[in-house]
Amino acid sequence: MRNTKYFRNSFYQKPLAELDYENMTMKRRLFPALARTLLFGCLFAVSLAPTFANPAHGSNPAAASIPVGTFEQRLPNGLRVIVKEDHRAPTAVHMVWYRAGAMDEKDGTSGVAHVLEHMMFKGTKNHATGEFNKIVAEAGGRDNAFTSLDYTAYFQIVPKRALPQMMALEADRMANLKLTAKEFEQEIKVVMEERRLRTDDNPVAQVHEALNAAAFRAHPYRRPIIGWMDDLEQMTDTDARDWYRDWYTPGNAYVVVVGDVDHREIFRLAEKTYGRIKSHGLPVRKPQNEPEQTGIKRVVVKAPAKLPYLIMGWKVPKLLDIDKDREPYALEVLSTVLDGHDAARFAKNLVRGQKIAQSAGAGYGAMARGEALFLVDGKPVEGKTVAELEAALRAEIKRVQDEGVSVEELARVKTQTIAAQVYKRDSMMAQAMEIGALEAVGQDWRNIDKLIEKIRGVTAEEVQAVAKKYFKDDTLTVAVLDPQPLDQAKPRRSTFTPRH
Ligand SMILES: [Zn+2]
Repeated sequence: MRNTKYFRNSFYQKPLAELDYENMTMKRRLFPALARTLLFGCLFAVSLAPTFANPAHGSNPAAASIPVGTFEQRLPNGLRVIVKEDHRAPTAVHMVWYRAGAMDEKDGTSGVAHVLEHMMFKGTKNHATGEFNKIVAEAGGRDNAFTSLDYTAYFQIVPKRALPQMMALEADRMANLKLTAKEFEQEIKVVMEERRLRTDDNPVAQVHEALNAAAFRAHPYRRPIIGWMDDLEQMTDTDARDWYRDWYTPGNAYVVVVGDVDHREIFRLAEKTYGRIKSHGLPVRKPQNEPEQTGIKRVVVKAPAKLPYLIMGWKVPKLLDIDKDREPYALEVLSTVLDGHDAARFAKNLVRGQKIAQSAGAGYGAMARGEALFLVDGKPVEGKTVAELEAALRAEIKRVQDEGVSVEELARVKTQTIAAQVYKRDSMMAQAMEIGALEAVGQDWRNIDKLIEKIRGVTAEEVQAVAKKYFKDDTLTVAVLDPQPLDQAKPRRSTFTPRH
């Protein structure tokens, strides 16, 4: 998703591809929220990556077995602990994932999942506010958290000797958070400022928000992860406390540890820490499926900006059955044919060739608890209109529908995907994210290696077939930025840097 820097607008979910593993700063790219993913557009690709063991064996279906060196245990309270041993450096990544994200919110309290994520860095019965971060820093580690449409996750990257302490701290805040009205009042202001900075002052983010809200009428993906400003203004500490009480329970969580560890030791530590917490039931989750879309939807956002911007989203299937599904893999390959490397069609034909687009991207998030969109976006060069860009983007998709993709393109996409996998395996954080993200959407980490096999099995005919089947106007939503003069922008000086 190299070219799609405008794409990943939900930094709240800080997609994998956006993680800078060296500094652990979250780069501010956009979205797959819709595509969710990315949490992952790239989420899918990312998912494939880290555990790809040996490309040489890749084409042998028998090689698609359970990833080596990974172990799972379920505690009596329902918490699952997944450990991947990687002894290349004396460090470890510790993550806790809660299967509760923005899609589980109700109208009127949008944004509460993310607000609670902020509140989790306040005090507990056993630790004062600020102590958590201090202990991590003193141990020589780094920590942060992110909220997506589908889940909320917390992590620390620490020298392995600090791992028992991290597990004790996470277990403590899973059960003992002290959520005070006073601290809530301060933190909700921080979150509102975060919304101003990342959405209200960011025209492209506004367009993404408008696209989601238009594409989905019934499904909760219509609401932004950060929440509507009015909901944030009306939110109370009780809303946050209710969220914590409803969803933060061992039975709705799993722990992922990757690093220089012995899995038996981690299981013992987990029993001593998380194992002491009592589990409770969860609120009923209603599916809230989106009714079938029966006509193109268009939405325009007017905001001060230099250039127009366009994003198009088609309703497409997500990955449900790793073994039986075929189309999600073909859609994933299609997105890489269009965007993601120098020879990809958008870069080659629209940016360099016709010079109509300043940037153009494609993204698809097969991994989602909710619904999937295939996204295409771009900024026209000066002198070209969004209508011209839209026509050019559509022409590229039509070419795939009419002529298919070449054997060389297909081979390049697969090489690209495998190279990304191998590269990502070098990062403990990427490996932990891959396991966690897969589990978040209800898939099993034991299938990680199968995903790459499936991508390798995609044929040119399958790519052409999905292009023909799904890229129709009746299931399309288009959102456009209509740039207004920049002098209309109210100058706003902010030194605010969101930490979470
Ligand atoms: Zn935040």
